[in-house]
Order: sequence, then C-alpha cells, then structure tokens
Amino acid sequence: MLTQNEAIQIAKTVIANNFPELASKRIKYVFVAGKEHDYYMAVQWLIIGYRIYIEKRILKFSPEAFTGCLAHELAHLVLDSRESLWGRLWAIATGKSSDETAEERNADLLAIDRGFGKALLQFHQEHDKKYVAYNASEGMTKREIKKMLKKL
Ligand SMILES: [Zn+2]
Repeated sequence: MLTQNEAIQIAKTVIANNFPELASKRIKYVFVAGKEHDYYMAVQWLIIGYRIYIEKRILKFSPEAFTGCLAHELAHLVLDSRESLWGRLWAIATGKSSDETAEERNADLLAIDRGFGKALLQFHQEHDKKYVAYNASEGMTKREIKKMLKKL
C-alpha cells in the first residue's frame, strides 16, 4: 500500500520526467476517503493552478497501476491547458465539455505517448479484478492499449 507521501513523490517524479509542461504549475494534492466517490482521481482547474483529488482506494493498487492512473489525469491537465480560457470557462459554466468520451480517450493516448502504456494497462487489469470493467466511453479498452503498445 502506498502512503500519501509516496503517492505525491511519484506524482512529482512523473511530472518532472514526463510532463515537463506541468512542472511550473501549482498543483495541490487532496486525498479523499473511498467509496462515496465514483472516481479514483479527478482534476480541478483553478485560476492559479490545479487540484488533483486522489481517492484513497487507489493507494492500494500497485505503484505501477497507480502511476498509470496518475498519468491519465496529468494528461487531462495537459490537454486542458491547451484549451482557451473561454473554452474552459464554458466547460465550467455548462458543467460538461463537448465530448467527454473523446477527452477520456485523448487522455489515454497522451499518457501512452508519454511512455505510460504499460502502467495504464496494469491499472486497467487491477481495476477490472477489483471492480466492474471499464467500458469504451471511459477511455481506451485494454485491447486498444495492447494494440498501441505493439506499435511503439
Ligand atoms: Zn479521465
């Protein structure tokens, strides 16, 4: 089981090595209790940085699976920061972005591109053993990730 400090250390290392464009951003890590949330990690865009919510259940995954899940969330931040200020405000005001499924898949693709395909696959495998399997609207399927890894 990862401690909260270990989780933050992993996040800092992953950002420094693989998501350098986030290195200058202010990121706050907030650990939340399990079960009442329907996510493992979520990101919130703030005026002066980001908040990453980490649900404590994810700390029970292997470090590699944790890293895969984290890389997906960091990919969201990178994709978000490429959007215009108005686009982000619109998303906040309306509560939803135009195409959530596409966003989830793009986050997976970027995480794979940054070298976290195997970690992402590990996350999916451990998740599916513990809980209900993901469906395609929540990101890429295991089969799709495996196929991409073969191409790399
Ligand atoms: Zn996501």
